[in-house]
Amino acid sequence: MSRPTRYGASRDDLAALLADEPRYRLDQVWSGLYEQLAGPEELTNLPKGVRALVESALPLELEAVTEQTSDRGETVKWLWALVDGTRVETVLMHYAGRSTVCVSSQAGCAMGCTFCATGQAGFDRQLTTGEIVEQVVRAGRRARDDGRRLSNVVFMGMGEPLANYDPTWAAIERLHADLGLSARHLTVSTVGIVPGIRRLAAEALPVNLAVSLHAADDALRDELVPINRRYPLSTLMDACAGYLLAKGRRLSFEWALIDGVNDRDVDVRNLIERARSLPLPAHVNLIPLNPTPGYAVRGTPPSRVRDFAAQLRQGGVNATIRKTRGTDIDAACGQLRAEHAITEVVVAPRG
Ligand code: SAH
Ligand code: SF4
Repeated sequence: MSRPTRYGASRDDLAALLADEPRYRLDQVWSGLYEQLAGPEELTNLPKGVRALVESALPLELEAVTEQTSDRGETVKWLWALVDGTRVETVLMHYAGRSTVCVSSQAGCAMGCTFCATGQAGFDRQLTTGEIVEQVVRAGRRARDDGRRLSNVVFMGMGEPLANYDPTWAAIERLHADLGLSARHLTVSTVGIVPGIRRLAAEALPVNLAVSLHAADDALRDELVPINRRYPLSTLMDACAGYLLAKGRRLSFEWALIDGVNDRDVDVRNLIERARSLPLPAHVNLIPLNPTPGYAVRGTPPSRVRDFAAQLRQGGVNATIRKTRGTDIDAACGQLRAEHAITEVVVAPRG
């Protein structure tokens, strides 16, 4: 196994590290890290030697390259450098009554969705459980410092969580068991990896499932979301129905509205039909497309977004229009990293 890290280490790893200490130290350190979201140096109930041991034997894995805030402090976005220099993003969003962190599950993504900045840049590597959990802990600490409490986690940052199943699921179990986040406050967003959805349906924890649909007919979905050629809509809907039946929980469809591409009347009709084909109609989250450098189509104008939502509701499908957060800091999937890469190219030759 590779070297243990701060949030990659299991309780057994920590027990081994503290083997020479009294038993209760294990609980003190573990609850310090996960319940108090504290760094070892803050655990003043521990002897200095133990603090130093944990600090040096279990290093952090994320170093902030940039931290930006927008929406009057309600959105915080980090670009992190991992130990090998790989870069990933995390976004924290405060709302009335809750704070949500959007985490990355992979560095880059191999799924190649045409409209997505992460997809355009390609795949770097899988994230480990420790790297995923640390994103949540670091955001949780920031929420606490902002006088808030982190309550929700969504896997909607960079990468496809179900293409990195085991580390992602281990992270979810850690968030549930040790950070005390309830399953209904954890959401996995997938492009539609059918075997992953089936595995998720068989897990004990009933997390929320969001499926990034974006198109409700195969011809269009093949274009926007290439993995549709492997798992076409009929197969995907079947897996979604299986998830619903296993969990008894409403499922949601994500729909990035793209001007003239998937916002036509025929798209509304197809979407209504798909959403209502499930045992419990899917809830639709509409997100006006965030423009990305590699895709020359605009987001749907606001009036048409409202109209699209109204048509869905008339058709018996609930829909929410997602406000885009942090557009002034490029807080959409993969965009901060893309923007930063451009800046670096420009800045580097000057020295
Ligand atoms: N890979 C997973 C989770 C990460 S993407 C998935 O695809 O579901 C999180 C969400 O952001 C997805 O619904 C994705 O389709 C959406 N998204 C990607 N690029 C976008 C863009 N340019 N504008 C709006 N939404 C986008
Ligand atoms: Fe990957 Fe999701 Fe972006 Fe598609 S939308 S390329 S699956 S991160």
